[in-house]
Amino acid sequence: MLCTMREMLADAKAKKYAIPAFDVSNYEMMRAVLEVCEEERSPALLMGLEGDLQGKGMQLIPAMIKSASEFFDVPVCLHLDHARDFSLICAATEAGFSSVMYDGSVLPYEKNAEETSAIVRFAHGNGLTVEAELGHVGDAIVGNENATTSGDGDPEDTLTEPEEAYRFVERTGVDALAVAVGTAHGVYKKTPTLQIERLQEIAKACGIPLVLHGGSGTPDDQMQRAIENGICKINIYSDVVTGLNTGLKNKLNSISNPATWPMFVFEEARKLMKETVRQKIRTFGSNGRV
Ligand SMILES: [Zn+2]
Repeated sequence: MLCTMREMLADAKAKKYAIPAFDVSNYEMMRAVLEVCEEERSPALLMGLEGDLQGKGMQLIPAMIKSASEFFDVPVCLHLDHARDFSLICAATEAGFSSVMYDGSVLPYEKNAEETSAIVRFAHGNGLTVEAELGHVGDAIVGNENATTSGDGDPEDTLTEPEEAYRFVERTGVDALAVAVGTAHGVYKKTPTLQIERLQEIAKACGIPLVLHGGSGTPDDQMQRAIENGICKINIYSDVVTGLNTGLKNKLNSISNPATWPMFVFEEARKLMKETVRQKIRTFGSNGRV
C-alpha cells in the first residue's frame, strides 16, 4: 500500500531531516532505491517523470512501483514530478499515484495560484498530496544528451519571495512548496550557492514543508544547512542516472559478448546507484526513521 507524502514530510519537518526523492525511470533504478531505503530504514519517495509516462508508461510504471512496494518493509510514496497540465495529473490520479507536483512556476503569479488552487481541490478530493512551485528553479544543463539545452537563464532571476510564498500557500492550500533559493536542475556548470537567509524567511512565512529541486551536484554542507532551515524533501535525478550510465558504460566496454545476460551488464550500475542513494539518505538524515 502506498502512502501519501503528507505524513512523510510532517515527520521530516518535525524532526528536521529531509527525504531524498528519486525520479525512477526503470526497474533497475526503482529496485536500487527501494533496496537501500529498506536497508537504511528510510521512507521511500519515488517519483515518475512525464517523459517516462508516455503511452502505456502511465499504467506500467505506477503498477510496477505499487506492486514492488508490497515487498519492502518501508513506507513508499509514489509522486508525480513536474506536471505542467491538469490532464497529466488526472491520468496519474487514475493510475494510482499517491502524490503529485503541479509546476506552474513559469506562469505569472496570479495564474500559478489559480491553477494550483484548482489542482489542490481535485487532488485532495482524491486523497493525494500536492506540491507546487513558486519562483522558478531553472535548468543548468539537462542531463540528457538528446535534450541538451544551455538552460533557461540565471536562476537568480526567479528566486522565491517570502511574502509572496506566504500568500500563495494561504490561498492554494498546497501541502508542500518547491522554492527557488539558488539551485538548478541537471548538471551544474559551476557550484551553486544557496540563499539560506531567504530560505529561513520563506520557511517562517509559510509554515509548510519546503522542497529543494536540483539537489544533484549541490554540496552536502549546503544541503544540510537547507535542511536545518526548512527543506524536507530534496529531488535527486542526475546523480543516480550518472551512476546508472557510468556503470553501464564501464561494464559494456569490458565485455566482448553482446549477448551477455543483462543481470551481469547492470551489475556495476546497480552498485553505483545504490551507493548514491545511500549517500543521499545518510546526508539528509532520513536513515533510521522508519
Ligand atoms: Zn525539479
